[in-house]
Amino acid sequence: MKPLLISVVVPCYNEQEVIQATHQRLVGVLDEITPQWEIIYIDDGSQDQTAQHLRTLQQKEERVKVILLSRNFGHQMAVTAGLDHVSGDVVVLIDADLQDPPEVIKDMIDYWYQGYDVAYGVRTDRQGETWFKLWSAKAFYRIINGLSDVAIPLDTGDFRLMDRRVVEALKTMPERDRFLRGMVSWVGFRQIGVPYQRSQRLAGVSKYPLWKMVRFAADGILSFSLIPLRMAIWVGLFTFVLSIIGILYALVLRLFTSIWVPGWTLLFISTLFIGGIQLVFLGVIGEYIGRIYRENKERPLYLVRERLGFKNYSFETQQSINNDKHLV
Ligand code: UDP
Ligand code: MG
Repeated sequence: MKPLLISVVVPCYNEQEVIQATHQRLVGVLDEITPQWEIIYIDDGSQDQTAQHLRTLQQKEERVKVILLSRNFGHQMAVTAGLDHVSGDVVVLIDADLQDPPEVIKDMIDYWYQGYDVAYGVRTDRQGETWFKLWSAKAFYRIINGLSDVAIPLDTGDFRLMDRRVVEALKTMPERDRFLRGMVSWVGFRQIGVPYQRSQRLAGVSKYPLWKMVRFAADGILSFSLIPLRMAIWVGLFTFVLSIIGILYALVLRLFTSIWVPGWTLLFISTLFIGGIQLVFLGVIGEYIGRIYRENKERPLYLVRERLGFKNYSFETQQSINNDKHLV
């Protein structure tokens, strides 16, 4: 069998408390599989000492590579930056906080040898998360599957192993609103779920506060579905039917009794009702137009401040920024 090179991509944002422990555990697991591995850490514009820790790790071990982004671009962009720099036959995405146990990578590799191109982690149990996060995550996966055109496996995050071919396929998808787990479902190939227990964050706090989760969820839905737009038609039809019923009611009252429909309240409520619905759908249309606008600008997805340990990247700054434009 051909020698296997494993690339592991780890996005890090303010992870100074955990990064050393994560690194040790990762290296332990990888060494058991093969000596041929590389770990690519992406510092997503951390404000703490993460970048310095990563520098030290890289100086001690040449199989470690580090990409420092020019600012915080968000988890999905950090992962994208990592994917653009991998050289392995298989690529593993894993969070920096040890919520996804690195030991599962061994099972994923087994599936790869069996011929699967993607082995994604399925969370059977999530320790130490609030009931709200559990509930909202569950609701989210159900909603997005109901709405979107591709089936996105339930309860999966970005913890996964992918064949190099899948990564190359992802690189051809230039969208700005990136929802990687949906994109990986979209590309197809042979995929399989690997159940695992999601543990508690080792230290530090979640970088996904509620508003970021809501935005992420919206990205997932809006970039994989046109149903929110189509809903306007259904809601429009519904209010139309309501208005017909209202007209009939008014006519019947007028023709067969001596009373008129009493006016003010109904007028007031129905005006607000129609106005509200129209504004909501104007907003939905606006979201899609905003996305078209953002895609149209064709800005690079992320900018690199510095690369450590990559031999083929010799110049930094402008040159590497231009490279990135070609890469993405
Ligand atoms: N992360 C990142 N950029 C961000 C936010 C998060 O690179 O803007 C990284 C973070 O360091 C971690 C992973 O993405 O490795 C998942 O983030 P987190 O653990 O905060 O999310 P949660 O597990 O709570 O959903
Ligand atoms: Mg986490």
